[in-house]
Amino acid sequence: MKPFWSRLFAALAGTISLLGGVIWSHPAAAEALPTVGSTLIARWQGDQKAAFLLMFDDGWPSHWQVAVPELARRGLTATFYVNPGKGEYQKFAREWEDRVWRQGMVYGNHTMTHKGATNQAHAEWEIGECNRAILRMVPGPQPRLISYGQPGVAREAWKISEETLNALLKQHHLISRPTFVNHGAVYHLKTAAEMLTLADRAIAQRGLEYLIIHGVERLQPNWGYQDFWALKQAILFALLDGLKQRHDQGDLWITDHISAHQYETERDTATVRVLAASAQGIRLELACTSDPQLYRLPLTLITRTAPGWKQTRIIQGSQTNCLKVTDDMIRFEAVPGPLPILLEPVPEVIQP
Ligand SMILES: [Zn+2]
Repeated sequence: MKPFWSRLFAALAGTISLLGGVIWSHPAAAEALPTVGSTLIARWQGDQKAAFLLMFDDGWPSHWQVAVPELARRGLTATFYVNPGKGEYQKFAREWEDRVWRQGMVYGNHTMTHKGATNQAHAEWEIGECNRAILRMVPGPQPRLISYGQPGVAREAWKISEETLNALLKQHHLISRPTFVNHGAVYHLKTAAEMLTLADRAIAQRGLEYLIIHGVERLQPNWGYQDFWALKQAILFALLDGLKQRHDQGDLWITDHISAHQYETERDTATVRVLAASAQGIRLELACTSDPQLYRLPLTLITRTAPGWKQTRIIQGSQTNCLKVTDDMIRFEAVPGPLPILLEPVPEVIQP
């Protein structure tokens, strides 16, 4: 059962419009938050209408040569499913170790060699060693969730039962990504328009969509050959521009697989309680039944403030933030857990 606010928000989908900041264009938003302190958990981070994931498979050189700089230029991220035991990865390991993740990209586990697994010990090495490589490269808490992309290999090369695989995924805190079927660039989807149709479907349904890309067309350096299933640069750039435009309109949260998974999981297991609410301040509790060690992504909350509040200071633990109030509503990020959230009016507009 989804929590009350989550269900209420879902019921209101389509009634709240956000364009370039917090603009409450429909009276139903106010109706949803009838009293001072009333709070919704937004369906997706930033109250974007839908989520979209870009995934790049197999650690091809064209990823860091072409895709990563173009993503970073637009402030976008993607999940890169690496194979640290594969030749073209090892030859350029420095790029993955030192550069790609520092530009805001996230790594997924695609096994060490992409050659399959013939028994349980082999699978433990393929999956476990890839995980350890990612954990070594990218600083962060441990354990932490990592996305898992099952490598496409011949049937005879993958001899692991689903049960064994699931046990390994659980042991390594891996979350399986959605299927390749109907989501492969070049293979299933040829044009930027076809790929953006996926994004528009997600927006219409307030859901999540994704695209799985292999190689990207490489012009410089000219190696005289392209990576596997190379996506034309013109198509990739048009896709990225289209995604960014949808993000800037408030339609699309473009993120990595684990962040989307965490947000969904937390959103569906969190409840907001108003501990106190008056013209002087609002005190909220954002409880969540998901494992706090693995699920600590901030959720986006929307709270009705008291009339006359121009700005609100938001305090949770040691975190303090000051945000503008629009039409007696404030939208902000909060971490689920025991730390209460305090909102209080700030009398004068403070320039950051
Ligand atoms: Zn692959």
